[in-house]
Amino acid sequence: MAKISIASQDRVFVLTGAGISAESGLPTFRASDGLWAGYRIEDVCTPEAWRRSPAGVWAFYSARREAGQKAKPNPAHFALAELEAKLGDRFFLCTQNVDDLHERAGSARLVHMHGELAKSRCERECGRPPVEDHAIYRSLDEVGRCACGGRMRPHIVFFGEVPLEMERIQDEIHQSTLMLVVGTSGSVYPAASFVHWARQRGARAVYVGPEEPLNASAFTHVVEGKAGEALPGLFEVE
Ligand code: NAD
Repeated sequence: MAKISIASQDRVFVLTGAGISAESGLPTFRASDGLWAGYRIEDVCTPEAWRRSPAGVWAFYSARREAGQKAKPNPAHFALAELEAKLGDRFFLCTQNVDDLHERAGSARLVHMHGELAKSRCERECGRPPVEDHAIYRSLDEVGRCACGGRMRPHIVFFGEVPLEMERIQDEIHQSTLMLVVGTSGSVYPAASFVHWARQRGARAVYVGPEEPLNASAFTHVVEGKAGEALPGLFEVE
């Protein structure tokens, strides 16, 4: 496979989705007819689901925490951490994933636009920041309250809520000259638009995954393959 060259003036923006964690044993979301680990998104990952059944939402995210804690980063996570080590602040990673496999592989310049499994925050948006929380809750009685009295909820961007860090993400995309997108179906917005924003500014755009994403035509290069096999050695840093 031809290598993709990264020149000394290039700035790389990486977007990852559920597919990069598939080889670590974490199921993707669209792989099974719009279900995530067997659940309908409307039942566990929306503001309405939280209002209707916080116990059900916590049961789902507790199970995701348990699976995430057992999973280990795969060669794709490590390849991105290595690329960051070479490029320093010319590298930026935005993940849609809520697992922490990128951090555990060594990535540091990253944002989680859809939140993080290992954190909780107040349901009332009272202004207190999210707190680290690795607990696996067996019942709603175990879930703590914020100092303001609100129930703690997963620090997850539910469908219909606004993604996190969008200003910084936009800024990094505008500065980038190469966008690399890995393992995302191109169906969740605004992430699916990032490639268009980068292309409008003349950046190259590479997709890596076993099948074409919905927005495949926007890329200058599609590398078909599993991330753990395709990413290591894909780039040549000048
Ligand atoms: P998606 O489930 O919609 O799509 C997964 C994509 O990964 C598909 O295009 C598939 O072809 C690709 N893929 C499968 N195996 C792969 C591999 N080995 N290497 C590379 N690519 C592979 O995922 P999405 O577009 O990221 O959207 C799902 C949403 O659900 C995200 O917003 C995310 O927050 C959430 N989610 C997160 C996790 C996680 O944190 N690990 C897991 C599932 C879902």
